[in-house]
Amino acid sequence: MSNSLPTKVRKFREHYRKHHQPSRYNGYLHFSFSMLFALSCLLFSTSQLDNVSLVEWITIPLTFIYANLVEYLVHRFPMHRPIRKLKLLFRRHARQHHRFFTEKAMQFDNANDFAAVLFPPYLIFFFLVFFAIPAGLILAYLTTTNIAFLFAITAFAYFINYEIFHTIYHLADSHWIYKFPFMKSLRELHLHHHNQKLMSHFNFNITYPISDWLFGTYYRKEREQDKTQTDKTVHPA
Ligand SMILES: [Zn+2]
Ligand SMILES: [Zn+2]
Repeated sequence: MSNSLPTKVRKFREHYRKHHQPSRYNGYLHFSFSMLFALSCLLFSTSQLDNVSLVEWITIPLTFIYANLVEYLVHRFPMHRPIRKLKLLFRRHARQHHRFFTEKAMQFDNANDFAAVLFPPYLIFFFLVFFAIPAGLILAYLTTTNIAFLFAITAFAYFINYEIFHTIYHLADSHWIYKFPFMKSLRELHLHHHNQKLMSHFNFNITYPISDWLFGTYYRKEREQDKTQTDKTVHPA
């Protein structure tokens, strides 16, 4: 597989494995840890719900939209632009993930390449301690405990969804999962995002392209054809 990769990507992958991947790294273990950790937090939060009212259930769609927006903004800005104090995100994403995988080399060589896709455990703890727990406490203080736990449930479910989808996009395009047209078209959006010329401008949602659509950064192949069509109309030859 590695031999058919563009030389630049192959060389970067070798460099990444040597210098950025822990020597005893195991991709399956990493994936299982992320899933089990998020699932445990999700199940614990579910066990804390008590007599949820109709209004409180609205927390789920609201948190879903909020999470979609956070996914979009964090990806569009600190992950693609070097911002002071958040340079680690830029380095891990724009400088590593986008060099490890390009439009012409989207696929993992093996499960240990999960390292270049999944959130490292220390970042998961960082977000849990500095974002999820404070947000939950503020919500519990300002609203109700049920709302705080529904927020946590949706946030952890979103995180699981994000990691699974992003991992799937970097599997072979012949994988059975792409028999589902829905997954195929989501992967296509991410494939365009891995085009070096487009990555800083389009398709920042990894899961559902709601914010991309809202902010005009949604891109799929037809758009280019539409644009050519419009250009022809505006400037006839
Ligand atoms: Zn990717
Ligand atoms: Zn990106």
